[in-house]
Amino acid sequence: MQHHSPRHLDPRAPLVLNTKDLPRSPGTMRTLRRTVPAPEGLGLELIGVPGGTDLALDLRLESVSEGVLVSGTVTGRIEGECGRCLRPVRATLEVPIQELYAYEHSTTDETTDEDEVGRLQGDLIDLEPALRDAVVLALPTHPLCRDDCPGLCPECGAHWDDLPDDHNHEQADPRWAALSRLEKE
Ligand SMILES: [Zn+2]
Ligand SMILES: [Zn+2]
Repeated sequence: MQHHSPRHLDPRAPLVLNTKDLPRSPGTMRTLRRTVPAPEGLGLELIGVPGGTDLALDLRLESVSEGVLVSGTVTGRIEGECGRCLRPVRATLEVPIQELYAYEHSTTDETTDEDEVGRLQGDLIDLEPALRDAVVLALPTHPLCRDDCPGLCPECGAHWDDLPDDHNHEQADPRWAALSRLEKE
């Protein structure tokens, strides 16, 4: 019976957690360490976790009165482009994750929306939506190759790092030249 979610969970899917071994009595817990391939599209426009790269899950599954609390960290490699100079950005991302999943037919199940509190399907938990939210929230919206990246010369597109200090472009219009002389004074 699947009236809670149209998506049938595959217990062997990497981001599906099986709680069969976790007794349904509050206070019991299990740890779960697993390395899974990152799902596709995990990230933002400029930066994200490349699909198929290793994501390390280090999780604690804890029985609470009406469900299972999943908490821990997700660690993976992020790749992207510097928002100022377009050079590649690579870093390791370690994201905390914490999500409550209610048992089917529990009071929580009957009285909350599925987008407020997650749901178990039988013994199974689909971790992917919570994982996506946690990773995307932790990504820098303006990734930089380094904090003080000076970016590119708007005239020629060269990186300021590669240009001499006095790099400039001759101003064809004498009025602009006069203006830039004023700015330097
Ligand atoms: Zn940069
Ligand atoms: Zn230039």
